[in-house]
Amino acid sequence: MHRTVAFSRNAVNIFFHILTRCNLRCRHCYINPDQHGRHDLPLATIRAWLAAFNPSDKQANVIFLGGEPTLHPELPDAIQAARELGYHSVTIDTNGYLFNHILEKVTPDQVDVISFSLDGANAATNDRIRGQGSYKACLEGVARARAAGFSTSLIYTVSNLNLDELEQMPPLLEKIGIEHFFIQVIGLRGPWADTRSRKAAGPRPQQVRADLWLETIPRVAANTASRGITVTYPKVYLEADEPFECAGLVAENYFIFPNGRVYRCPLCEDYPLHSLQFKDNCLVETGGINEARLFNLTIAEGCVMNKLIQPSNLAYNGRSNPRYRVACCMLKEEITPE
Ligand code: SF4
Ligand code: SF4
Repeated sequence: MHRTVAFSRNAVNIFFHILTRCNLRCRHCYINPDQHGRHDLPLATIRAWLAAFNPSDKQANVIFLGGEPTLHPELPDAIQAARELGYHSVTIDTNGYLFNHILEKVTPDQVDVISFSLDGANAATNDRIRGQGSYKACLEGVARARAAGFSTSLIYTVSNLNLDELEQMPPLLEKIGIEHFFIQVIGLRGPWADTRSRKAAGPRPQQVRADLWLETIPRVAANTASRGITVTYPKVYLEADEPFECAGLVAENYFIFPNGRVYRCPLCEDYPLHSLQFKDNCLVETGGINEARLFNLTIAEGCVMNKLIQPSNLAYNGRSNPRYRVACCMLKEEITPE
């Protein structure tokens, strides 16, 4: 079944970066310690911040992220805290190295999904983007997680550096036993996206052209679903008759960082535009110009933050009208196997 996944009004989704440290240096990494902080959050703080987002009237889901979250020695305790607080689901997003013997310290009853990141169907492509040895580590991590009884998903961040290998992913996913495949569009944020700096040698990843995206992604998604694997991918380009909606206005997604910043829109994360902030473990609204002031702006191109920070994916006709509107980055298409 193929459907556009509307923003959920009845759930609260917490994307909780409990640290920004990582063993890898992926080319497209969006973590920006200057904007997000450099310290590991202590367990007591993690617990207090989880409690702040756990309403009794809505289902709350938490995704633990980093950096690499398994580098945090107290991740198992953080997961246990989320369970004690009544979180409906717990996900770990990992690069696959699974540090600190995490698989021996948590159980499939505590963790709904372990989500792995891989950016190439072959080691050469993946390792060029994510670092030497990361392909092998990821596949070994998937195998270990499956052997321990965990559900697994996999995220593939599409750019001009790996679009060609996306077609090879469905058979690989089937072979390694992935249950849910997330195709992601590369976001132009993080230190690597700053054209003034050059953090990594080699070519910079770029978003793929609209025609290539529309031609390739739905086809690969359908192929994946035909193998019994659920697929989710961002909508990106709205059809002419589809309404535009900003998740910041209608959904509850919170992107939390160790320095206490809480964003409603991931595209804003490179800037001090967060609309919420933890102060002494209390969540307070920030003043002045912030992301929430932008959500209401209506423009012909769709998402206002997309136009502000990554306008290269826009195209115009001869009368300067946009050829298409860009959807909220959180609007997804999903295909579930029949
Ligand atoms: S694994 Fe994640 S946090 Fe680490 S460098 Fe890669 S993208 Fe960044
Ligand atoms: S990506 Fe655009 S539409 Fe979505 S929350 Fe951010 S500003 Fe709103």
